[in-house]
Amino acid sequence: MRQLLILSLIVFLHLESTQFNPVNAENAESSTYTKAREDMVANQIETRGVKDKRVLAAMRKVERHKFVPKQLRYLSYTDGPLPIGEGQTISQPYIVALMTELAGLKGDEKVLEIGTGSGYQAAILAELCAHVYTIEILEPLATRAKALLEDLGYTNIMVKYGDGFLGWKEFAPFDAIIVTCAPQEVPLPLIEQLKDGGRLVIPVGTFYQELKLIEKKNGKLITKNIIPVSFVPMLRKNRALQK
Ligand code: SAH
Repeated sequence: MRQLLILSLIVFLHLESTQFNPVNAENAESSTYTKAREDMVANQIETRGVKDKRVLAAMRKVERHKFVPKQLRYLSYTDGPLPIGEGQTISQPYIVALMTELAGLKGDEKVLEIGTGSGYQAAILAELCAHVYTIEILEPLATRAKALLEDLGYTNIMVKYGDGFLGWKEFAPFDAIIVTCAPQEVPLPLIEQLKDGGRLVIPVGTFYQELKLIEKKNGKLITKNIIPVSFVPMLRKNRALQK
C-alpha cells in the first residue's frame, strides 16, 4: 500500500512538472509539429512541383508555427496564408517555397527581401544563402520579427524598418531580391540594386497580380510570368504614416 502511494506521488509529480513546465510544453509542441511540417512539404509543396532539395530541406526545418500568433498556431501547417496582425499575413507555405526556388540560391549570395512581416520568409532565405537584408514598413512588425529572428539564433539577417520601395542602397547590389507585397509596377530602385546575373522575384499588380521572375543579364531584363498570386499591396512610407 505504502509503495503504491509513493508510486502515485511520483507519477503525480512527474505529470505536474511536464504539464506546467513551459520549456517542456514548447518541446512537446515542436515535436507534434514536425510531422505536420513533413506533410506540408510532401502534400503542398513537392506535389506542386518545387524540386530544389535545399529549399525543401529549409521548409522542413524552419518552424513556421513560431512565426504565427499563438491562438492560430494549430493552423500553422495548413495550405494558406494566416493573419499576423496589423492587417498583414504570413504567406502560404507553397508560395514561400516557390519564390525561394525561383531565387536560385546556392549558398553564398546576398539577398534582399521586401516585406519582413512575420520574418518567416527571411528565416527560410537565411538557411540558404550567406546574408539576408529584409525591410518592413510597419514598425511593430519589424520590431517583433527582429526579436524573434534573434531569439531563434539567426546571425545572418538584418531587419530594417523602412520603405522597401527604395531598396537598401548601403548593401546593394544583391544577388537576389524577393518582394512579398505587391506594387503596381516594379520599383526602379530594386532593378538598379540587382546584380548583373541576379534574380528579382516579385508579385506585380493591384486586384489581379502576377508573380514575375526578372533576370538581369548583361544589363538587360528578361521577365517571365510565373503564376497569378494574391499578396497584400506594397504600401508607401507617406501613406503608411498617415494611417
Ligand atoms: N514575408 C512575410 C510576408 C509578409 S506580408 C512573411 O514571411 O511573413 C507583406 C509585408 O509587406 C507586410 O508585413 C507589409 O507590412 C509589408 N510591406 C508593405 N509595403 C511595404 C513596403 N513598401 N516596404 C516594406 N514592407 C512593406
